[in-house]
Amino acid sequence: MIDSTIQSLRELLGDDAVTTASTDLDATSQDTWPLATKRAMTGAHPHRADVVARLTSFDEAAGVFAIATRDGVPVTVRGLGSSVTGQPLPVNGGIVLDVSTVPASFEVDERNMTVTASASQHGGELEDALAARGYTLGHSPQSLYRSTVGGWVATLATGQFSSMYGGIEDLLVRYTVTLATGESAELGARPRAAMGPDLRHVFIGSEGTLGLVTSVTLKIFPAALPTRFETYALPTVADGIEVMREQALLGLRPFLLRFYDTDEARHAMADPTIDHPVLFVGTRGPQEIADAEAAVLHRLVTGRGGRALGPEGATAWMGRRFDFSTVENLLAQPGGFAETIEVAHLWSGIGDLHAALREALLPLADEVLSHFSHVYTQGTSMYVILLGRADSDEAAVERLTAIWSTAMDVCLAHGAELSHHHGGGLARSPYAERSLGSAHLVLRRLKSALDPARILNPGKLGL
Ligand SMILES: Cc1cc2nc3c(=O)[nH]c(=O)nc-3n(C[C@H](O)[C@H](O)[C@H](O)COP(=O)(O)OP(=O)(O)OC[C@H]3O[C@@H](n4cnc5c(N)ncnc54)[C@H](O)[C@@H]3O)c2cc1C
Repeated sequence: MIDSTIQSLRELLGDDAVTTASTDLDATSQDTWPLATKRAMTGAHPHRADVVARLTSFDEAAGVFAIATRDGVPVTVRGLGSSVTGQPLPVNGGIVLDVSTVPASFEVDERNMTVTASASQHGGELEDALAARGYTLGHSPQSLYRSTVGGWVATLATGQFSSMYGGIEDLLVRYTVTLATGESAELGARPRAAMGPDLRHVFIGSEGTLGLVTSVTLKIFPAALPTRFETYALPTVADGIEVMREQALLGLRPFLLRFYDTDEARHAMADPTIDHPVLFVGTRGPQEIADAEAAVLHRLVTGRGGRALGPEGATAWMGRRFDFSTVENLLAQPGGFAETIEVAHLWSGIGDLHAALREALLPLADEVLSHFSHVYTQGTSMYVILLGRADSDEAAVERLTAIWSTAMDVCLAHGAELSHHHGGGLARSPYAERSLGSAHLVLRRLKSALDPARILNPGKLGL
């Protein structure tokens, strides 16, 4: 069956765009998920495609889906593979559809402050091009320079400055999709639309299980605004969480708000002597607003026993905010392992969740570091970094597996959200139904309606 599929793909896309070379099949059998990386280091590629097809135009997608439907072969869409949860891994083999090869282009609408880009657009290149014209996307994930615009939509991504600009769900104005049936649709609002349900949300975070995102219109913002930074020492984690909550309730919108527990503060400040939690603050806007927000934040922090350390901690972090080398270098070492797990909870539960996750995970890693970095009036996200060394890569795989199940079980027991922005992927698919509860029924019904042959990215989101 797969031979005739490959033959049909070659006829549709051309020989150069279709590969069964083992290097290509191995490369697409992993993303940036530490567990997948570590498994690959043991020589294991449990999730391997039969063929990789590289699009040169999104118009070709309908033809690929028709072939896959005819032959009952799964299709797993792949952007730049920066997923850290196994989202683009082809669990049932079949076709990996690489869309990062579609030539990218974008168009700026300065009057309405949007940019429309092909889904294959490299995020960092888009932000750099906008910066040259005095604009920013406001969306700045740590993976800005290793992810696509379509990937952001498909994964419900959020960026480091979300407390001012919001997540991709807030920044997305319009997008187009190609369904598994070959049909296309545009979903959007100009600038808001009360005509039935807000269908823009259907594909946001669908991880390639419901359709292929082909073009994306995002908001843009003026880039060159006065900015102020400060770094604060806080007495306790509870004090810092209260500052984050109080400023959210007052409606402040600092573009940078990152609060580190003492263990991560040592890394964030690059200073092993730090013995207290640390808060990074950045305010931005017309000078009066940047100054006023900075002043209110200062009052809130000092009211909780905090003290200013000067801007350097926060500005130094700004300079290395795309750096992932601590995790990557450790993973590259025999037996070394590292993981990042981001979750979210209400203000009423986040402090207990922090304590419980630390206690449960400490026996599994040498270091358990946590920070809180995306803030809402109801609660915040918590990002846990685990670093450790085991006796072998096989033992590291076991440790990472235990880390995931332990973390997810603790979150479920605390009623927390299992992912704040890295998504379900393979890491969380076994927990998707429990996490979504009765809403999972809606997801299953959407899947049946939009992908009746069930070809798109099987084995994800509990589908
Ligand atoms: C160092 C590092 C830092 C990160 N920081 C952040 C962060 O700050 N915030 C954040 O949100 N995420 C972060 N991530 C996770 C990841 O970068 C994002 O999820 C990103 O959005 C994935 O984009 P991608 O193009 O690499 O997609 P891929 O990893 O290739 O794919 C991810 C999923 O999206 C689907 N997909 C991709 N493109 C399309 C499309 N056009 N249509 C339909 N489905 C598609 C795939 O099938 C897959 O399920 C980080 C990852 C790394 C490695």
